[in-house]
Amino acid sequence: MKVYAAWNPSEEQRRGSSSGGVATMLARAVLDAGGVYFGTRWDERMRPVVAWTETDVAPFKGSRYVQSHFDASVREQLERFLEEGRTVLFVGTPCQVAALQTLREHPRLICVDLICHGTVPASSLEQELAYLAPGASLTDVRFREGPLYQMSLWEKERCLYRRSAALSPYLYAFLSGLSLREACYRCPYARPERTGDITLGDFIGYPRPGVSFVMTHTPKGEEWLKRCGAVLEARSFEERAAYRPGLLEPTAPSPLCPVFLKHLERLPFPQAVRKTLRGYFRGLPFRQAWKWLHHQAYLVKSFIKGK
Ligand SMILES: Cc1cc2nc3c(=O)[nH]c(=O)nc-3n(C[C@H](O)[C@H](O)[C@H](O)COP(=O)(O)OP(=O)(O)OC[C@H]3O[C@@H](n4cnc5c(N)ncnc54)[C@H](O)[C@@H]3O)c2cc1C
Ligand code: SF4
Repeated sequence: MKVYAAWNPSEEQRRGSSSGGVATMLARAVLDAGGVYFGTRWDERMRPVVAWTETDVAPFKGSRYVQSHFDASVREQLERFLEEGRTVLFVGTPCQVAALQTLREHPRLICVDLICHGTVPASSLEQELAYLAPGASLTDVRFREGPLYQMSLWEKERCLYRRSAALSPYLYAFLSGLSLREACYRCPYARPERTGDITLGDFIGYPRPGVSFVMTHTPKGEEWLKRCGAVLEARSFEERAAYRPGLLEPTAPSPLCPVFLKHLERLPFPQAVRKTLRGYFRGLPFRQAWKWLHHQAYLVKSFIKGK
């Protein structure tokens, strides 16, 4: 296993990607070699689906914090491409990569698994979007702007909704381990032994944002990583593992999970999540004011010390 910090040196090409844009660079390299790229994108009804492309990588950029639908017909298409002699890159969650287990040794299939915090059921996101933007013809939903976690809803170039993670019930519930699928709390893939030829994640702990954490597990993975043109810096596994999320153990369920599940028996997702987090959101202005006061006190102290 080799470990790297990696990124696309072109800021313009990196825009829209979650961290260093390495998934998109690998995709570009495979397409340039006449191959096919399988990843997750929105379909025309804003449902997250595993799909493929032979040309345009842009719709696949960015992380969608929801379970994407991996249809049996899509898998069959992947096998057909391999039989035709094409090279195939598959990027997905470790459980999606594990679903390709029987094909894993295929010399022309490159599998990339993402470090995975967990996924929210697709039906929960569907209800949340209908609640936030009823009747809108959404064309994009984003959960991150580079390193910043914020949920935004788009109708072409028009932003209809934008909230930081602290203020977005959907994103806060995802990040705090409240709304994940039951299976994710017991995920067998949240460990250093991975399912792909390459593992990608955020390089938490790296001195600057916009950098991917990359592990290569096979010669095939190492070869394509080198071929994709990313800037590579050899690093250690321990350095990233110190910031555990997703690499050593599954995400722990929020202590509020039992309350949330109880509400979910009677209420749709948007109402259940808001009712569960009512106390958190009520206390938010007070906590923010407290944080601001702390920061001001720190600035005054630093100023006095500096004199
Ligand atoms: C649900 C989820 C949870 C994650 N949790 C963590 C975490 O806890 N810690 C961490 O370090 N990294 C996590 N990641 C990985 C991280 O967010 C980035 O995806 C990764 O660093 C690659 O960034 P990039 O800039 O190279 O990719 P980009 O160039 O932005 O490309 C994004 C890639 O992610 C794929 N993708 C997007 N959404 C999904 C989805 N729902 N299911 C499957 N594949 C998808 C796309 O197909 C594309 O290939 C998570 C990703 C997802 C999707
Ligand atoms: S946490 Fe595990 S089970 Fe859940 S989506 Fe990620 S890889 Fe799959």
